[in-house]
Amino acid sequence: MSRLEGKAALVTGGGRGIGASIAKRLAADGADVAVTYSRSAEKAAAVVTDIEARGRKGLAIGADNADAAAVASAVEEAADSLGRLDILVNNAGIFGHATIEEATLEDFDEMVAINTRAAFMASKTAIRHMKDGGRIISIGSNLAERVPSPGISLYSLSKAALIGFTKGLARDLGPRGITANVVHPGSTDTDMNPANGPTADGQRNLMAIPRYGHPDDIAGLVAWLAGPEARFVTGAAWTIDGGANA
Ligand code: NAP
Repeated sequence: MSRLEGKAALVTGGGRGIGASIAKRLAADGADVAVTYSRSAEKAAAVVTDIEARGRKGLAIGADNADAAAVASAVEEAADSLGRLDILVNNAGIFGHATIEEATLEDFDEMVAINTRAAFMASKTAIRHMKDGGRIISIGSNLAERVPSPGISLYSLSKAALIGFTKGLARDLGPRGITANVVHPGSTDTDMNPANGPTADGQRNLMAIPRYGHPDDIAGLVAWLAGPEARFVTGAAWTIDGGANA
């Protein structure tokens, strides 16, 4: 029996990048998987095709993380369509570069709405459907722990908030046997942070293993946290960054 056989998962922003790798990996491990997207409808449909090719149920749901009601309704739709919900991966996110002099109130509100508030909304909705053994895994960033260059205060704030939120979730949901963890990737080769981008060499220079992570590296850790071996692991932050923050 596959380790996630009989489980149902929702991955926000599962149409591309790290989220797509996570969605495919959870399906490979036996779960039915719904993904949300905001702009990448075709890519999300391709991920669903991949999930279905593995003999699992797949579903793509349009939901902008900036719209709290849309996030809640995407969780409801995933639970209804898949018949249950065991695993929530709060992955969708944006990056923005602005120093404190440049950043606006609108930048703050957008960053926090998409990267932080949506995780609150999705988690709050998902726990109505989760049974004992449920999993909430949020994708933070190693920039939540260390801020090695200027211009990323809002991004770091939005991801650092997930640490406190995750600890609180762990306390609230532990008695129900639901775990909550935050995964902090470092430089990972996606559209957000391509391994051949203008700042890539500077990022590699910070790392103990001087290469970009592959989205599958992150998916492997998320899949482990989603599985039965991690049932006693909660309230924790998992840095996976090739040693950049070491
Ligand atoms: P990416 O390639 O830019 O993908 C971002 C994903 O988030 C896409 O699926 C996108 O969907 C979704 N998304 C963005 N804005 C959204 C919105 N308003 N509503 C719904 N979905 C939205 O980035 P990635 O590297 O895979 O990032 C995934 C997560 O990892 C993010 O939370 C990011 O902060 C985090 N992370 C990435 C790195 C890195 O180096 N790549 C490092 C640390 C943490 P659409 O295309 O449909 O909008």
